[in-house]
Amino acid sequence: MATRFWLVHLACVALLIILPFGSFRPISEEIVDDSNASSAEINAAAPPVLQPRGRKPEALAQISSEQFKLAADYLIEFGYLPDENFTDYLVPDMPFIPEDQLPEEFISGLEWFQRQNGLTVTGRVDDETSDAMKLPRCGKHEQRMSYNVGAKWKKVSLTYKIINTTALLPDKLVREELIKALKVWENVSPLKFVEVGINQTADIDMFFVSGQHNDGERNAFDGPGRVLGHAFMPPFSKTKKDLDGDLHLDNDEKWSINEKKGVNLLQAAAHELGHSLGLDHSTISEALMAPTYKGYKPLFQLHQDDIEAIQALYGKPSTKTDASSSSASSGGASKAVTPSVTSNSKVTEDKKDPKKQTIVNLCSEEPIDTFVSTMDGSIYLFKGEYFWDLSHGKLPMSPKKKYPQLISAKWKELPSSIDAAVRMQNPTAKQDGKIFFFKGDRYWKYDNDKIEPGYPKLIKEGFPGIPNSVDAAFTQPAIIAKGNKVIREERIFFIKGKKFFLYDPVAGNSSSPQMLQDDWFGVKLPITAALSLKNEMYLIGKKKFQKILLLTYSQNRVYGNIHQAKNLDQLIVCDTTK
Ligand SMILES: [Zn+2]
Ligand SMILES: [Zn+2]
Repeated sequence: MATRFWLVHLACVALLIILPFGSFRPISEEIVDDSNASSAEINAAAPPVLQPRGRKPEALAQISSEQFKLAADYLIEFGYLPDENFTDYLVPDMPFIPEDQLPEEFISGLEWFQRQNGLTVTGRVDDETSDAMKLPRCGKHEQRMSYNVGAKWKKVSLTYKIINTTALLPDKLVREELIKALKVWENVSPLKFVEVGINQTADIDMFFVSGQHNDGERNAFDGPGRVLGHAFMPPFSKTKKDLDGDLHLDNDEKWSINEKKGVNLLQAAAHELGHSLGLDHSTISEALMAPTYKGYKPLFQLHQDDIEAIQALYGKPSTKTDASSSSASSGGASKAVTPSVTSNSKVTEDKKDPKKQTIVNLCSEEPIDTFVSTMDGSIYLFKGEYFWDLSHGKLPMSPKKKYPQLISAKWKELPSSIDAAVRMQNPTAKQDGKIFFFKGDRYWKYDNDKIEPGYPKLIKEGFPGIPNSVDAAFTQPAIIAKGNKVIREERIFFIKGKKFFLYDPVAGNSSSPQMLQDDWFGVKLPITAALSLKNEMYLIGKKKFQKILLLTYSQNRVYGNIHQAKNLDQLIVCDTTK
């Protein structure tokens, strides 16, 4: 049984060798002569010559079987890999595995882990990834489908009880720390917590426990280190069931208060409480809600991302306390003040050209057309006949000075109001770095701001299977191992209405369309633009955006975890006047 997965994978490899049109295929783009590639823009004109994978393992990047096993176990344990079909990844009888023979699911799970933890997404077991897997962490399993959408308490006054404390620390201090952890969230939201007696029913039960503790074998604690605790999300319905909202801390940890050694109780409890209140893990590694514990922080504060997450669910603190309290947010809310411009009042004051007015407000009713990033790291935003260069060190991204500018000032041949754009990201491919713009039934190909000869062309010729007038597009970049070997090929996502299409630029074909809401549960439509920023993907709609974590679980289906929709001003500074 343990051998099943590996056997299946080997069978796939064998199949690939036999079938010339197998879905995995080495990049063969080099054989395309670009000058006559009119009918299949970025596909291979002839059926690619198939080279069996791993023919020259000595030339390839490889990982030790031991490393593979450790990583696979970790990914399964914390939910980054499904454990239903393959309970074990049998390590083949060889000390090293060529990276291009790693199971596709394994790479997907690894990428998910990397995105989730704010690491560079390489799809490979690199040092940064191995190190992150060694950190102590929250034991809450990642779930493949979005679970945070709608999981919130339907009230703001919540009850709790502290069922027990932990032996190494005085009861009184433990209680104080847990109450402080509640305060952390109380300070930045309208939530209020009320303690109830031990015999009463509470919304949130908190306790310390070791090993298995009646909430499933998968949730058993693991002794000192590694898993520190876990908590259960709020009930979906009005009535709380069993474990909903409860918080469990591993009693075998060396819990500590205000000191470097051990595991800081306040930080760990506040993190778990975040889950009890409905928060998902954050992909920002400095956030409290990041999955791993990175040590004691004497001046522990919530990250802006934590604050935004809780406020997206419950809103801002009620103002009645006193006027200064929103900025006081004492318990340690960090105040990286979001420059949320109250755009409405600005616009009415502004008596300039009305067209320009809506255009300078990036979050206005008129949707953003597209984003595109370039090889040099610039990110451009397109809206109507204008574009902006965004500085993107931290969110929200803000337009640089001297913008907006007319699109025609940089990309002379482009029309206004374009539908979508992508930059190709496969360093082994000829098209790497090229930018494609789409509008209506046509597309334009640029090398930075230089158009290539013969454009525009028709979408149906260059991108067979892709509909005209798409809403958004982005790429899932290729993953390349050291020997310049492609581990996972690039795919272009096209979004139109309720559907998405996956385009394989090497094979030159597209998957049959999938319903967005089936594979990206919780996604809000319509989507007008998409952006990939560092490790993260963003889908942009009218006035709102959603972060998505992509998890590839099969060749033609790409599942994603969709975060709750947030206001656009948390992604971009809306008003570009002044
Ligand atoms: Zn957690
Ligand atoms: Zn538990």
